[in-house]
Amino acid sequence: MSTPAPRETAAGPELRYRRRLAEGVFEIQRCGDCGRHVFYPRVGCSHCGSAALAWVRPSGRGTVYSTTVVRARPEEGGPYNVAIVELAEGPRLMSRVEGIAPAEVRIGLPVRAAVRGSGGDALLVFLPDTSAAGIAAPDGSSTEAAHD
Ligand SMILES: [Zn+2]
Repeated sequence: MSTPAPRETAAGPELRYRRRLAEGVFEIQRCGDCGRHVFYPRVGCSHCGSAALAWVRPSGRGTVYSTTVVRARPEEGGPYNVAIVELAEGPRLMSRVEGIAPAEVRIGLPVRAAVRGSGGDALLVFLPDTSAAGIAAPDGSSTEAAHD
C-alpha cells in the first residue's frame, strides 16, 4: 500500500507496531525500494525516503550495542538494564536485557527478542541468546571472551 494520506497515517505505523506487539508479535518494516530494514515504525524509509515500507518479522536476533544500568530503588523494582540493541537486520533500538543481572550485560552480547506481557502492557525485551554462543562480534565492537 502506498496511499499518500499525510496526516492520518502519521500515527499509523506506530499504532500498527503496538497492535502487533500486543498480540505477541514483533515486526519491523522493510523498504521495498532499497531493501533495508527500518525501525522505529515510520511512513517513509529512513535510508532512501521511499514510502514502500512493508511489515516483516525479523529474526529476533541482535547484539548489545550499548548498555547502562539504571539504579532504581528497591521499592521501584531495583536496578534494571537499558540497552541499545542492534538487530541482525540492521536497525538499532532501545530496550532492556532481561534474564541476566543488569550489570552482567556486555557490549556484543548476543540477544534474542521476546515480547513480555500482552495487550496494552506488551513490552519488547531481549534475552541472552544462549544458542549464539561463539558468534563473532560485529566489526568495531568489543569482543567478550567466553570463560568458564
Ligand atoms: Zn529505502
